[in-house]
Amino acid sequence: MKLFWIYFIIIITVFYSCSPKPYGNTNKVYVKQSKLFAKKITGVPVNLIIADSFKKPLYTAYTTNFGIRKPNIVVIHYTAQNSCEQTLQTFTKTATQVSAHYVICKDGTLHHMLNDYLRAWHAGISRWGNNTDVNSNSIGIEIDNNGVDSFSNAQINTLLGVLSFVKKEYNIPAENFIGHSDVAPARKIDPGILFPWKALSEKGFGLWYNDTSTVTLPVDFNVKYALKIIGYDVKNLQNAINAFKRHYLNTANEALFTKPEEKVLYAVMLKYLN
Ligand SMILES: [Zn+2]
Repeated sequence: MKLFWIYFIIIITVFYSCSPKPYGNTNKVYVKQSKLFAKKITGVPVNLIIADSFKKPLYTAYTTNFGIRKPNIVVIHYTAQNSCEQTLQTFTKTATQVSAHYVICKDGTLHHMLNDYLRAWHAGISRWGNNTDVNSNSIGIEIDNNGVDSFSNAQINTLLGVLSFVKKEYNIPAENFIGHSDVAPARKIDPGILFPWKALSEKGFGLWYNDTSTVTLPVDFNVKYALKIIGYDVKNLQNAINAFKRHYLNTANEALFTKPEEKVLYAVMLKYLN
Protein backbone atom coordinates (compact mmCIF):
# COMPACT_ATOMS: atom_id res chain seq x y z
CA MET A 1 0.00 0.00 0.00
CA LYS A 2 2.88 2.34 0.86
CA LEU A 3 4.45 1.61 -2.53
CA PHE A 4 1.16 2.51 -4.19
CA TRP A 5 1.23 5.98 -2.66
CA ILE A 6 4.85 6.53 -3.67
CA TYR A 7 3.99 5.63 -7.29
CA PHE A 8 0.89 7.80 -7.08
CA ILE A 9 2.88 10.86 -5.93
CA ILE A 10 5.52 10.28 -8.63
CA ILE A 11 2.86 10.07 -11.35
CA ILE A 12 1.12 13.26 -10.14
CA THR A 13 4.46 15.12 -9.93
CA VAL A 14 5.47 14.01 -13.43
CA PHE A 15 2.00 14.95 -14.75
CA TYR A 16 2.13 18.47 -13.35
CA SER A 17 5.73 19.11 -14.33
CA CYS A 18 4.87 18.07 -17.90
CA SER A 19 1.64 20.09 -18.14
CA PRO A 20 2.15 23.08 -20.46
CA LYS A 21 2.82 26.44 -18.83
CA PRO A 22 4.15 28.52 -21.73
CA TYR A 23 3.09 31.76 -20.06
CA GLY A 24 4.50 30.99 -16.59
CA ASN A 25 6.82 34.00 -16.58
CA THR A 26 4.34 36.56 -17.91
CA ASN A 27 1.69 35.20 -15.53
CA LYS A 28 4.04 36.08 -12.68
CA VAL A 29 4.34 39.62 -14.09
CA TYR A 30 0.52 39.84 -14.15
CA VAL A 31 0.23 38.84 -10.49
CA LYS A 32 2.93 41.32 -9.45
CA GLN A 33 1.37 44.22 -11.37
CA SER A 34 -2.16 43.50 -10.18
CA LYS A 35 -0.90 43.46 -6.58
CA LEU A 36 0.55 46.96 -7.11
CA PHE A 37 -2.84 48.19 -8.33
CA ALA A 38 -4.59 46.47 -5.44
CA LYS A 39 -2.30 48.37 -3.08
CA LYS A 40 -3.21 51.61 -4.82
CA ILE A 41 -6.97 51.20 -4.38
CA THR A 42 -6.71 50.02 -0.79
CA GLY A 43 -4.86 53.22 0.12
CA VAL A 44 -6.79 55.95 1.93
CA PRO A 45 -7.68 59.18 0.10
CA VAL A 46 -5.11 61.96 0.24
CA ASN A 47 -6.23 65.45 1.17
CA LEU A 48 -5.31 67.78 -1.67
CA ILE A 49 -3.60 71.07 -1.02
CA ILE A 50 -5.20 73.12 -3.79
CA ALA A 51 -3.70 76.53 -2.98
CA ASP A 52 -1.89 78.33 -0.17
CA SER A 53 -5.19 79.81 0.94
CA PHE A 54 -6.84 76.38 0.93
CA LYS A 55 -8.55 75.62 4.22
CA LYS A 56 -7.45 72.24 5.56
CA PRO A 57 -9.93 70.11 7.54
CA LEU A 58 -9.31 69.76 11.27
CA TYR A 59 -9.84 66.03 11.15
CA THR A 60 -9.96 63.16 8.64
CA ALA A 61 -13.29 61.66 7.61
CA TYR A 62 -13.58 58.79 5.11
CA THR A 63 -16.94 57.70 3.79
CA THR A 64 -18.28 54.25 4.62
CA ASN A 65 -20.37 54.06 1.46
CA PHE A 66 -18.60 52.93 -1.68
CA GLY A 67 -18.20 50.17 -4.23
CA ILE A 68 -15.85 49.35 -7.06
CA ARG A 69 -16.23 51.01 -10.48
CA LYS A 70 -17.66 48.68 -13.08
CA PRO A 71 -17.29 48.32 -16.85
CA ASN A 72 -20.31 49.65 -18.74
CA ILE A 73 -19.39 49.11 -22.42
CA VAL A 74 -18.33 46.00 -24.33
CA VAL A 75 -16.11 46.50 -27.37
CA ILE A 76 -15.83 43.58 -29.78
CA HIS A 77 -12.77 43.14 -32.01
CA TYR A 78 -11.24 40.74 -34.41
CA THR A 79 -7.55 40.11 -33.90
CA ALA A 80 -6.46 40.49 -37.55
CA GLN A 81 -3.89 37.84 -36.72
CA ASN A 82 -3.36 34.31 -37.96
CA SER A 83 -3.84 32.28 -34.78
CA CYS A 84 -4.94 32.49 -31.20
CA GLU A 85 -1.39 31.66 -30.11
CA GLN A 86 -0.07 34.66 -32.04
CA THR A 87 -2.56 36.90 -30.20
CA LEU A 88 -1.65 35.48 -26.78
CA GLN A 89 1.98 36.22 -27.54
CA THR A 90 1.15 39.76 -28.71
CA PHE A 91 -0.78 40.42 -25.49
CA THR A 92 2.04 39.16 -23.27
CA LYS A 93 4.85 41.20 -24.81
CA THR A 94 5.33 44.51 -22.99
CA ALA A 95 6.54 46.27 -26.15
CA THR A 96 3.22 45.85 -27.98
CA GLN A 97 1.22 47.85 -25.36
CA VAL A 98 -2.00 46.12 -26.43
CA SER A 99 -4.29 43.71 -24.61
CA ALA A 100 -7.88 42.62 -24.11
CA HIS A 101 -9.87 41.04 -21.30
CA TYR A 102 -10.98 38.05 -23.37
CA VAL A 103 -9.62 36.22 -26.41
CA ILE A 104 -11.81 33.69 -28.19
CA CYS A 105 -10.05 31.09 -30.36
CA LYS A 106 -11.54 29.52 -33.50
CA ASP A 107 -12.43 26.30 -31.67
CA GLY A 108 -14.31 28.31 -29.03
CA THR A 109 -11.56 28.19 -26.39
CA LEU A 110 -11.82 31.21 -24.11
CA HIS A 111 -8.77 32.92 -22.63
CA HIS A 112 -9.65 35.35 -19.84
CA MET A 113 -6.45 37.40 -19.87
CA LEU A 114 -7.33 40.27 -17.54
CA ASN A 115 -9.63 40.81 -14.56
CA ASP A 116 -12.71 42.70 -15.85
CA TYR A 117 -12.23 45.45 -13.25
CA LEU A 118 -8.82 46.33 -14.65
CA ARG A 119 -8.16 48.50 -17.70
CA ALA A 120 -7.11 46.66 -20.87
CA TRP A 121 -5.46 48.49 -23.73
CA HIS A 122 -7.78 47.47 -26.55
CA ALA A 123 -9.69 50.52 -27.81
CA GLY A 124 -6.79 52.96 -28.26
CA ILE A 125 -7.70 56.53 -29.20
CA SER A 126 -11.47 56.24 -29.30
CA ARG A 127 -14.76 57.95 -28.57
CA TRP A 128 -18.34 56.85 -27.95
CA GLY A 129 -20.76 59.67 -27.28
CA ASN A 130 -18.88 62.01 -24.98
CA ASN A 131 -16.78 59.21 -23.54
CA THR A 132 -13.22 59.80 -24.73
CA ASP A 133 -11.62 57.15 -22.52
CA VAL A 134 -13.36 54.00 -23.68
CA ASN A 135 -10.64 51.73 -22.23
CA SER A 136 -11.41 52.96 -18.71
CA ASN A 137 -14.98 51.69 -18.58
CA SER A 138 -15.12 48.93 -21.15
CA ILE A 139 -14.45 45.24 -21.56
CA GLY A 140 -12.47 44.30 -24.67
CA ILE A 141 -13.19 41.00 -26.39
CA GLU A 142 -10.91 39.84 -29.19
CA ILE A 143 -12.06 37.14 -31.57
CA ASP A 144 -9.34 35.19 -33.38
CA ASN A 145 -10.04 36.11 -36.99
CA ASN A 146 -7.84 37.35 -39.82
CA GLY A 147 -10.42 39.85 -41.09
CA VAL A 148 -11.23 37.77 -44.15
CA ASP A 149 -12.70 34.47 -42.93
CA SER A 150 -16.12 33.99 -41.34
CA PHE A 151 -16.43 33.60 -37.59
CA SER A 152 -16.88 30.00 -36.45
CA ASN A 153 -20.04 28.81 -34.70
CA ALA A 154 -17.90 27.70 -31.76
CA GLN A 155 -16.53 31.25 -31.42
CA ILE A 156 -19.95 32.86 -31.55
CA ASN A 157 -21.30 30.38 -28.98
CA THR A 158 -18.44 31.20 -26.61
CA LEU A 159 -18.91 34.90 -27.29
CA LEU A 160 -22.61 34.68 -26.41
CA GLY A 161 -21.68 33.00 -23.14
CA VAL A 162 -19.22 35.76 -22.25
CA LEU A 163 -21.66 38.50 -23.25
CA SER A 164 -24.44 36.98 -21.13
CA PHE A 165 -22.11 36.82 -18.16
CA VAL A 166 -20.78 40.39 -18.39
CA LYS A 167 -24.18 41.88 -19.21
CA LYS A 168 -25.68 40.41 -16.05
CA GLU A 169 -22.61 40.82 -13.84
CA TYR A 170 -22.09 44.52 -14.63
CA ASN A 171 -25.63 45.48 -15.68
CA ILE A 172 -24.53 46.66 -19.15
CA PRO A 173 -27.33 48.04 -21.35
CA ALA A 174 -27.97 46.40 -24.76
CA GLU A 175 -26.95 49.55 -26.66
CA ASN A 176 -23.47 49.48 -25.15
CA PHE A 177 -22.38 46.33 -26.99
CA ILE A 178 -20.45 47.81 -29.89
CA GLY A 179 -17.49 47.24 -32.19
CA HIS A 180 -14.00 48.69 -32.35
CA SER A 181 -14.80 50.44 -35.65
CA ASP A 182 -17.77 52.13 -33.93
CA VAL A 183 -15.53 53.79 -31.34
CA ALA A 184 -12.52 54.40 -33.60
CA PRO A 185 -14.01 54.97 -37.08
CA ALA A 186 -10.95 56.78 -38.42
CA ARG A 187 -8.56 53.94 -37.59
CA LYS A 188 -10.34 50.61 -37.30
CA ILE A 189 -12.65 48.35 -39.30
CA ASP A 190 -13.02 45.41 -36.88
CA PRO A 191 -14.99 43.29 -36.11
CA GLY A 192 -15.81 43.78 -39.81
CA ILE A 193 -18.72 43.25 -42.15
CA LEU A 194 -18.98 39.50 -41.48
CA PHE A 195 -19.69 39.96 -37.78
CA PRO A 196 -23.25 38.82 -36.92
CA TRP A 197 -24.52 41.98 -35.19
CA LYS A 198 -28.16 41.30 -36.09
CA ALA A 199 -28.10 37.83 -34.52
CA LEU A 200 -26.43 39.25 -31.41
CA SER A 201 -29.02 42.02 -31.08
CA GLU A 202 -31.74 39.37 -31.04
CA LYS A 203 -30.11 37.99 -27.88
CA GLY A 204 -29.96 41.43 -26.25
CA PHE A 205 -26.45 42.52 -27.23
CA GLY A 206 -26.49 45.69 -29.33
CA LEU A 207 -29.46 47.40 -30.98
CA TRP A 208 -30.95 46.66 -34.40
CA TYR A 209 -33.56 48.40 -36.52
CA ASN A 210 -37.10 47.49 -37.43
CA ASP A 211 -38.26 46.99 -41.02
CA THR A 212 -37.66 50.27 -42.85
CA SER A 213 -40.05 49.71 -45.80
CA THR A 214 -42.70 51.93 -44.22
CA VAL A 215 -40.31 54.52 -42.77
CA THR A 216 -40.68 58.10 -43.95
CA LEU A 217 -37.66 60.30 -43.33
CA PRO A 218 -38.35 63.61 -41.59
CA VAL A 219 -37.83 66.52 -44.02
CA ASP A 220 -35.11 67.98 -41.81
CA PHE A 221 -33.36 64.65 -41.21
CA ASN A 222 -29.68 65.29 -40.55
CA VAL A 223 -27.21 62.42 -41.03
CA LYS A 224 -24.54 63.99 -38.83
CA TYR A 225 -26.89 64.54 -35.88
CA ALA A 226 -28.32 61.03 -36.22
CA LEU A 227 -24.85 59.46 -36.11
CA LYS A 228 -23.95 61.70 -33.16
CA ILE A 229 -27.09 60.66 -31.25
CA ILE A 230 -26.13 56.99 -31.70
CA GLY A 231 -22.65 57.70 -30.31
CA TYR A 232 -20.36 58.05 -33.32
CA ASP A 233 -17.51 60.53 -33.41
CA VAL A 234 -18.60 62.73 -36.34
CA LYS A 235 -15.49 64.89 -36.53
CA ASN A 236 -14.90 63.20 -39.87
CA LEU A 237 -18.41 62.48 -41.15
CA GLN A 238 -17.40 60.02 -43.87
CA ASN A 239 -15.50 57.87 -41.35
CA ALA A 240 -18.60 57.71 -39.15
CA ILE A 241 -20.77 56.82 -42.17
CA ASN A 242 -18.34 54.02 -43.10
CA ALA A 243 -18.38 52.62 -39.55
CA PHE A 244 -22.19 52.71 -39.45
CA LYS A 245 -22.36 50.89 -42.79
CA ARG A 246 -20.03 48.15 -41.58
CA HIS A 247 -22.10 47.61 -38.46
CA TYR A 248 -25.69 47.93 -39.71
CA LEU A 249 -25.51 47.36 -43.46
CA ASN A 250 -22.70 44.76 -43.60
CA THR A 251 -20.94 46.65 -46.33
CA ALA A 252 -17.48 48.12 -46.75
CA ASN A 253 -18.79 50.44 -49.46
CA GLU A 254 -17.38 53.81 -48.49
CA ALA A 255 -19.72 56.33 -50.05
CA LEU A 256 -22.42 58.68 -48.84
CA PHE A 257 -25.71 57.10 -47.74
CA THR A 258 -28.34 56.23 -50.31
CA LYS A 259 -31.94 57.14 -49.34
CA PRO A 260 -32.77 53.54 -48.25
CA GLU A 261 -29.59 53.53 -46.15
CA GLU A 262 -30.54 56.84 -44.56
CA LYS A 263 -33.80 55.20 -43.50
CA VAL A 264 -31.78 52.51 -41.72
CA LEU A 265 -29.78 55.23 -39.96
CA TYR A 266 -33.00 56.94 -38.91
CA ALA A 267 -34.44 53.64 -37.64
CA VAL A 268 -31.30 52.90 -35.60
CA MET A 269 -31.32 56.45 -34.21
CA LEU A 270 -34.90 55.95 -33.02
CA LYS A 271 -33.76 52.82 -31.15
CA TYR A 272 -31.08 54.86 -29.38
CA LEU A 273 -33.63 57.53 -28.48
CA ASN A 274 -35.96 55.01 -26.85
ZN1 LIG B 1 -9.80 46.08 -32.57
